[in-house]
Amino acid sequence: MNESIETIVAAPEFAPGHVWLAGAGPGHPRYLTLEVADALAKADVIVHDALVSDGVLSLAKTPDLIFVGKRGGKPSVAQDDITARLIELARAGKRVLRLKGGDPFVFGRGGEEAEALVRENIPFRILPGMTSALAALAAANIPATMRGISRAITLATGHAAGTPGDLDWKALAKTGEPIVVYMGVGTIGTIAQLLMEGGLSPETPVAVLMAATTPDERSLTATLATVQAEVERQNFVAPALIVIGKIVSMRAVLSGRTALPGNKP
Ligand code: SAH
Repeated sequence: MNESIETIVAAPEFAPGHVWLAGAGPGHPRYLTLEVADALAKADVIVHDALVSDGVLSLAKTPDLIFVGKRGGKPSVAQDDITARLIELARAGKRVLRLKGGDPFVFGRGGEEAEALVRENIPFRILPGMTSALAALAAANIPATMRGISRAITLATGHAAGTPGDLDWKALAKTGEPIVVYMGVGTIGTIAQLLMEGGLSPETPVAVLMAATTPDERSLTATLATVQAEVERQNFVAPALIVIGKIVSMRAVLSGRTALPGNKP
């Protein structure tokens, strides 16, 4: 059967009064899913975070773009205000596209927003996006899993590392499996320390992947012992992902001379 992109994306109708909670992928618009690209053209209003790139937003047909992220050191819009806004727009009969970086359900608070929509009886759909970790690893020639090296991969948030009630980093270290840390540039020193206390070698390879798939993309490789100093020396800032584990050593192997820059901005 010959399917066209139009028939693939036409199936669920974007109806007035509905909210579509969608992931915009890692940055570059080429990583949008077909249905999110289509939703950008159909929405009446788009409520987006800072991680949604200008390239993605330039595909919107509506001029009605509402920014609810954190920018220029100013605090982000409170989560309750964002959900209240979504509900108000839906009740006004708009097709509301709530657009988040990466995937809405991976450290994106999509679950909380969907919960509020359920509570308020607002019809909604979740549209997945490519989470930044998978895109960034591919862009860096680091396989997320690899037979003989890893059997699992942990996606963790570094946001609260070292504070009471946070993740048990030492237990993660004991699995010996690779860890990808979101929101961890500010806490990498603490994370590295806890992982070493948990038994990971100070020589464990680490990659820091910043602004993957965007024009600001940069990366560095280090070890658990040196990563904090390298992050500071090279001025790495959010958004960045930290990849910890033996899979990082595959980067040198796979970045040989036949590797094309196919996943670059
Ligand atoms: N829902 C998003 C994650 C939001 S949390 C997703 O699925 O990707 C924000 C964190 O995501 C950032 O602090 C950073 O760690 C990571 N991130 C998002 N986009 C990124 C990118 N293009 N390059 C590197 N890290 C990114």
